[in-house]
Amino acid sequence: MSTQWAEKIQLESNVKKQPELPKFAYFKGSVVPYADARIGLLTHALNYGTAVFGGLRGHWNEAEQELFVFRPLDHFRRFVDSARLLRMDLGQSPSGLWAGLRALLRKQETRTDCYIRALAFYGDETLGVRLHGLTPEVSIVALPFGHFVANDDNAHASISSWQRISDNVLPARGKIAGGYVNSALAKTDAQLAGFDEALVLNDDGHVCEGSVENLFVVRGGVVVTPPVTQDILEGITRRSVIELLRQDLGIEVVERPIDRTEVYLADEVFLTGTGVQIVAVTRVDHRAIGTGRMGEITSRLRPALAAVVRGQDPKHRDWCAPVFREGTKG
Ligand code: PMP
Repeated sequence: MSTQWAEKIQLESNVKKQPELPKFAYFKGSVVPYADARIGLLTHALNYGTAVFGGLRGHWNEAEQELFVFRPLDHFRRFVDSARLLRMDLGQSPSGLWAGLRALLRKQETRTDCYIRALAFYGDETLGVRLHGLTPEVSIVALPFGHFVANDDNAHASISSWQRISDNVLPARGKIAGGYVNSALAKTDAQLAGFDEALVLNDDGHVCEGSVENLFVVRGGVVVTPPVTQDILEGITRRSVIELLRQDLGIEVVERPIDRTEVYLADEVFLTGTGVQIVAVTRVDHRAIGTGRMGEITSRLRPALAAVVRGQDPKHRDWCAPVFREGTKG
């Protein structure tokens, strides 16, 4: 690997650069020191990928001296649904999980932008590929946030030769840990080939997602995004962005499958996700998208979402759940 790409990959793998491990974890129903939350080598999930996860964000609002978690109940609803796909009964409701996260953030005194990782995993230390007769455990940790994609205002993506997992192979609408090997293959190969991101085709040959982001293309002032039946993750940012576009910016959004060559001919392409927020894709496979610079709709949307998630837009304040003040609305 050339030094240039080694540096680029190091730059992007913010998790590797995390200076410290978290101080606390929510583990098996209570907040414990991170170092006490341990699992053994034979843990089923570690061997077979039988875990599901959630990725949330907390945004620090300096003026209000408050940390806002973005749509925690929606995230935990999807988390519980993902767990159900693996036959896990977590015995906890979305609001119970939010209470656990809140207790963790309060105990840890997290007063900075952060990324939150919830995990439900089969914790049995046992061999045998199956989903029955096993016991799920839940953990949550929170880390200071980092940028997930370099060049998020000017990204160069490639269409991956790795195909997206499909519903009858491994459910794509849930965040199933084992399924993320598919995302990792696409992402790493794209980066090693010099791109910032990968776009993946689904089983029927339509472009459906980025490696860990939902896809939007703009043509003739209309925003198009694949429907949830196209082997995409049912993204919370996707749902929020569709609402912002339609209601706040008055822009038409159509949910339909997207052809590969529509991406090449688009005026704008952008990706959405909790980790990345909104990435402007300005080149795909060495072709300029539109002018080759961030387009008008993407330019309007990025600051709009940035204000919303920090609790600075009164219209969407109910998407932001405060951690330190009283009230548990998600
Ligand atoms: N697709 C995939 C495959 C993802 O992993 C993610 C990140 N969770 C997304 C899309 C975006 O979803 P969300 O907006 O809920 O983070």
